Amino acid sequence: MSATHYDYLVIGGGSGGIASARRAAEHGAKVGIVEAGAIGGTCVNVGCVPKKVMWNTSYVGDILKMAPAYGYDITQNGFNWSTIKKSRDAYIQRLNGIYHRNLDHSGVDEIVGWAAFQDAHTVAVDGNTITGEHILIATGGYPTIPNLPGAELGISSDGFFALEEQPKRIAVIGAGYIAVEFASLLRGLGSEVTHFIRQDQVLRRFDASLREVVMDSMTDMGVRFVRGSQPSGLEKQSDGSIAVINHARPHEQTFDCVIWAIGRAPASNKLGLDNTDIKTDKRGFILTDTFQNTNVDKVYAVGDVSGRDALTPVAIAAGRRLSDRVFNGQTHAHLNYENIASVVFGHPPIGTVGLSEEEARRQYGDEVKVYQSRFVNMLHAVSDHKPPTLAKLIVTGSEEKVVGCHIVGDAADEIIQGFAVAVKMGATKSDFDNTVAIHPTAGEELVTLR
Ligand code: FAD
Ligand code: NDP
Repeated sequence: MSATHYDYLVIGGGSGGIASARRAAEHGAKVGIVEAGAIGGTCVNVGCVPKKVMWNTSYVGDILKMAPAYGYDITQNGFNWSTIKKSRDAYIQRLNGIYHRNLDHSGVDEIVGWAAFQDAHTVAVDGNTITGEHILIATGGYPTIPNLPGAELGISSDGFFALEEQPKRIAVIGAGYIAVEFASLLRGLGSEVTHFIRQDQVLRRFDASLREVVMDSMTDMGVRFVRGSQPSGLEKQSDGSIAVINHARPHEQTFDCVIWAIGRAPASNKLGLDNTDIKTDKRGFILTDTFQNTNVDKVYAVGDVSGRDALTPVAIAAGRRLSDRVFNGQTHAHLNYENIASVVFGHPPIGTVGLSEEEARRQYGDEVKVYQSRFVNMLHAVSDHKPPTLAKLIVTGSEEKVVGCHIVGDAADEIIQGFAVAVKMGATKSDFDNTVAIHPTAGEELVTLR
């Protein structure tokens, strides 16, 4: 039987793969996309989307807590995890359907199964051979579970989204986006949360002022941090609970659920790369140049598997530009990875774009000037609880070019997108100052900093 042949064969039906496949088909290429799991990949099924639903759930709880201060006489009878789990799952199913239909409308063939390279332009999927003139690797990543005794007693972010019941006593291990997001949303929903971090602070690559506000706010909401922790395993206790072995002895509390949130690994290990010359780094991330080319002609990689900023819009943007270049003659099309904004959906959220103060000082030394303001969002004006908001601009040189723009507090998640445009365009502090404020908002602080 002869192999099916495509102009463009995409491995991985997640954010980057789908975006690139559809764009290539729009340009007239014959495109096939191979997906082994649920269409939409990490973001739709076990990432951004269900996470944001849970973040919203916790946010609704915050608003309910505030309601009496605003004069509402309400009786709250509790929170039902399984109600939101069912609605969340149904929402994801609807999205899966939309993704299937979109691929169909774009004329992209969906191939269900696990793809493994036989050679650089031939892939086997469940016994079928498929060839591609151009091949994209967009296989994403998976959560890291450490190789420690009893580690399997814990769950990863994937396991978190499968939980049918809300765990009462939870340990979160890790210090990045997922750890902060899960620890704060679970605490917001009423679980007891103990957060094990190896160092003194979470989010070490973020601006120090943001980290402080986040950790103060998390502590204030009742998250218990165990700093300088070194978990060496997990142990089941006779009552069924789980102990975290920290510095060689069980931590004093035990847990119903332990979540590993210590990073993600690239899905490149079971891809048959040994049958090709495609190069990876030591951790398995596929090496690519500015144009997403691997070292092998007409084989490309985008998204989490390429080890760049592991964010959905990054995978999408890189995938689309790649297809514009390869299938639409836009020879210089590529993603510029500078000044990519992101949000950590904690309680409160962080919005950030550009350099942290530390990075700016390393890069620009004494030319750096910092403007910042700490205030309480007017949302909290009439209640006793006064969580802080922090807005911070980092500028360099006599023209005061804005190289970092950060905000942590209510609405930071929505505010930062517009400011990211300004930073990407090279705005200066005086451009910010010349923009008339919108009052009363939290965002106005960024254009009124003194
Ligand atoms: P993926 O979306 O992971 O897609 C890869 C696909 O390839 C998967 O569906 C997989 O099944 C398939 N696959 C792998 N190997 C094979 C194979 N050999 N054959 C066939 N199919 C294969 N990003 C944001 O921007 N905002 C957020 O709020 C956000 N929240 C997140 C929350 C969590 C809990 C997690 C885990 C991630 C979050 N991310 C967020 C990151 C975001 O999900 C990823 O950056 C994004 O999904 C990467 O897209 P991708 O196309 O590279 O890979
Ligand atoms: P991250 O890479 O963000 O953070 C993991 C952190 O865990 C490390 O930085 C490290 O911090 C700590 N860690 C690593 N190994 C260990 C260990 N063995 N024991 C204890 N702690 C350890 O990974 P995440 O899993 O949180 O998320 C993966 C990526 O997914 C993110 O980087 C982000 O790109 C993306 N994502 C984006 C989101 C968003 O946009 N809102 C949300 C969720 C994920 P330290 O060195 O300080 O100890």
